Parts: sequence; C-alpha cells; structure tokens
Amino acid sequence: MSANSPAPSVRPLIAGNWKMHGLRAQLAEAQTVRDALTAGEISHGVDVMICPPATLIALMAEMAKGSRLAVGAQDCHWLPQGAHTGDISAEMLHDAGATAVIVGHSERRADHGELDRIVKAKAEAALRAGLTAIVCIGETAGQRRAGLTLDIIARQLVGSLPEAGTAADTIVAYEPVWAIGTGLTPTPAEVAEVHAFIRRALIDQYGTQGREMRILYGGSVKPSNAAELLAVPNVNGALVGGASLKAQDLLAIARACKVDAA
Ligand code: PEP
Repeated sequence: MSANSPAPSVRPLIAGNWKMHGLRAQLAEAQTVRDALTAGEISHGVDVMICPPATLIALMAEMAKGSRLAVGAQDCHWLPQGAHTGDISAEMLHDAGATAVIVGHSERRADHGELDRIVKAKAEAALRAGLTAIVCIGETAGQRRAGLTLDIIARQLVGSLPEAGTAADTIVAYEPVWAIGTGLTPTPAEVAEVHAFIRRALIDQYGTQGREMRILYGGSVKPSNAAELLAVPNVNGALVGGASLKAQDLLAIARACKVDAA
C-alpha cells in the first residue's frame, strides 16, 4: 500500500481547539456553527467538532445534541477515577457528552511535562471510555532546523499511539510546535512529506486501519490558507486553534475541505 494513495473513504474532520478561551457567552459561536451545519452550509462529507474548555463541554453537548456538531475535550487523565485533584477522566468527559479528546497537545507536553508514555496512557484511556483519541505530535523549530523532524515524529508515534487503535477511534494531528499560534506554516511540500511519513507509520502499525485513519494538520490554519493545506495528500482535515474561536472562520475552513464525490 502506498502512503500516497489514502483510502477514498477518509472523511475530513475540522476540529476546533478553543484552549483556555471561552466563558458561557462564547457558546454563541458554537451555536452559529451548529446552525450552519443544520442549514446544510457545509458539505455532509465533512465532520466538524469543537473542543471547548472542560467547563463548557456539558453545556455545548446539550446545545449540539442531535446536530452535526461534535464536541470534544482537550485533555484527560489516564485513570477512570481516583484521588487526583483537578483532573478529569475520559469516562467523565464521555459522561458530559464529549465524543473525542485531544491528547499530547504540545502545550500540555510543554506546560505539564507530558512524555510520550503519558500521552499513550491517555490515548488508551480515551478508547477505554469510548472516546476518539486525537493524538498530537510535532517537532520544535530547533528540531526542524537540525533536520530531526521525521526522527521526532517517528519517536512520538511509537511512544504515543494506542496499541489497538482503529480508524474509528484514533486520529493523529501533526502540529509543528513552531507553527502553533505564530502565523507560520510549513510549505505544502513539507506538510506532504510529514503526512506521507505518518501514513506509512500508521499502515505499518495498524495495517488497513492505518490506511483509513485521519491525519489532521494543525498550526496557524486560517480561512486564507486552509484550501492549500487541506489539498495536500494525506491531510484529512485540520486541528484549528485561534481561528476556531470565530464561527465564521471555522466554517470558512470547513468549506475549504475537498470532499470525495463518492
Ligand atoms: C492548536 O493549538 O492546536 C493550534 C493548531 O493552534 P493555532 O491554530 O492557533 O496555531
């Protein structure tokens, strides 16, 4: 199987990561996204998700119930419950209405010292709880300058992915750390190289399932560059930070998704 011939059935996903932004008033933006999806303004071939702060998950899930808008979380603990003050388990996120959780975001790796083995335990916890794991990987600027990008990606994939992931419950998000929140992006050729490498690794690890797993690109995606980035082979959608806070920007990015006619 060639990394350059992904299965045509891979549905693109545009996932917004609100990070530590948003009081209840911000739910109006999610409502606008929900209504646009309901009105058919975005192709039915594209999935759209918002990952709000934990405080808004239950409210957003209630608001999005029965609609095409999916609700995700930004992190979880690896245990189902216990004496871990301030932490939230994957089971609790599921109970609150989330269907997915981001694990291993570079801000968590940097701010909380999360190592690959912790990220892997969190991804396993997500699957245990019935959530989709969105596993983030990506190199720093220094690692790219040193020519280490693919080595870092390979190490993070081996260390962070769940053992028994499937295309239905495991998503990889390639997010170069230097592109997050900076306005900088890799060239389409650079994105293509890394995504093809990830595709090969997923096929090696998961066989046919790896061929169908979604690989998102993340890092300064906005309406003006979305079409170019989303057209790169093996890019099956985007993880969007800053631009996801505005409904119209998230919707414009979703509209830029190329969808198979089939
Ligand atoms: C992110 O943090 O996941 C992200 C992609 O951020 P931004 O789009 O703001 O670069």
